[in-house]
Amino acid sequence: MLSDTHFYFNKAADILGLPQIIRKILLTPQRSVKVEIAIESCAGELMYYTGYRVQHNNARGPMKGGLRFHPEMNEDHASALAGLMTWKTAVVDIPFGGAKGGIDCDPKTMSDKDLSLVTRLFVAQMKDVIGPTIDIPAPDVNTNAKVMGWIMDEYSKFEGFSPAVVTGKPLHLFGSEGREEATGRGVMLTLREALKDQGKTFSEITVAIQGFGNVGSHAARLIAEHGACIVAVADHTGGVSNPDGLDVVALNEWVSEKGGVSGFVGGMAFEGSEIITWDADVLIPAALQDVITEENAHDVKAKIVVEAANAPTTPSADAILLERGILVLPDILANAGGVTVSYFEWTQNIQQFRWVLDRINDELEKVMSKAYRSVCDVAEEKKVDLRTAAFILAIRRVGQAALARTHLDGSIFM
Ligand code: GLU
Repeated sequence: MLSDTHFYFNKAADILGLPQIIRKILLTPQRSVKVEIAIESCAGELMYYTGYRVQHNNARGPMKGGLRFHPEMNEDHASALAGLMTWKTAVVDIPFGGAKGGIDCDPKTMSDKDLSLVTRLFVAQMKDVIGPTIDIPAPDVNTNAKVMGWIMDEYSKFEGFSPAVVTGKPLHLFGSEGREEATGRGVMLTLREALKDQGKTFSEITVAIQGFGNVGSHAARLIAEHGACIVAVADHTGGVSNPDGLDVVALNEWVSEKGGVSGFVGGMAFEGSEIITWDADVLIPAALQDVITEENAHDVKAKIVVEAANAPTTPSADAILLERGILVLPDILANAGGVTVSYFEWTQNIQQFRWVLDRINDELEKVMSKAYRSVCDVAEEKKVDLRTAAFILAIRRVGQAALARTHLDGSIFM
């Protein structure tokens, strides 16, 4: 995955004509920390995990990014995703850098007690390299508000009351209104802007969504509320489709009860992997990386792909989609709603003040539409696709901030 994110960076850096030394500085993480986590599980078994935190860049502010609990988590994934966070926070112009981390565990197979212990051991070993002005973790794949609450609690044992050390916390533990649905809302807002540019509205489109976790489920609900027809949804348990539109509210209830979309009575079952090539106007990959590949990109039928997941499209697939005239709304723009509301949560924690939901949603809307417009302006200026434009915008902002801290001239980023 790291070589893929480097590929996109270099494509933009070529257009900016950046020298190798600057590329090296901007691509290399500032720090990478790896910790050993061994526990005796509730079942009396000895379990061994590795925890990672890669801190990519802090030129524009404290480093920021999620924690992913997944058996395939490793340093390469953490580095690639940490870099994406640097570019993402720059695209939406919030005062953070980028980081990412996680543990190579599978929460689905663990008790809450074991998961809490593993999380707390991770924090105890990372406490000196994270903090409200250093690096602020957040939820990502397989982590949620409960895990963030444990992180705040454990860190505060060492450093005193510190709600701003982590975002995505429970509402009753200094979390923010609107944070849980923020990534999904940002996806909806980005798509809305793109449709506006094409003179279309939500009521004219059909949508297929891969992933029905925190991001996919909220994106589906909000997009359906705006009048779009969600014709197919797939997750790790399988797929369900309905040409007249799935009842997203009922599907949400089904998933909360059964743990996946499979068997949902309001739709027809299909093999989950078919979702990428589903016949719909819009495709939203909202699960894991590398799902649109050289093998299936030729068969994608959607006219717009909204990258709600991080790094769902490989560079060779991206080239095919571009060649076929499919509009890709890139991850570092389309899924930035989550980290943007994390910024609002951090701000509220620092100020010891609460914002109401309307304020959160209004501010998020402003940030997302401004970011979309800025990316389109660069695309127009440089005659490039939106992903390359988003990288150019981000590299300029990060590069200029980095050089403004020195006596060097920042004009090479123009
Ligand atoms: N994990 C989310 C992302 O990839 C959110 C990060 C955050 O809120 O810091 O953008």
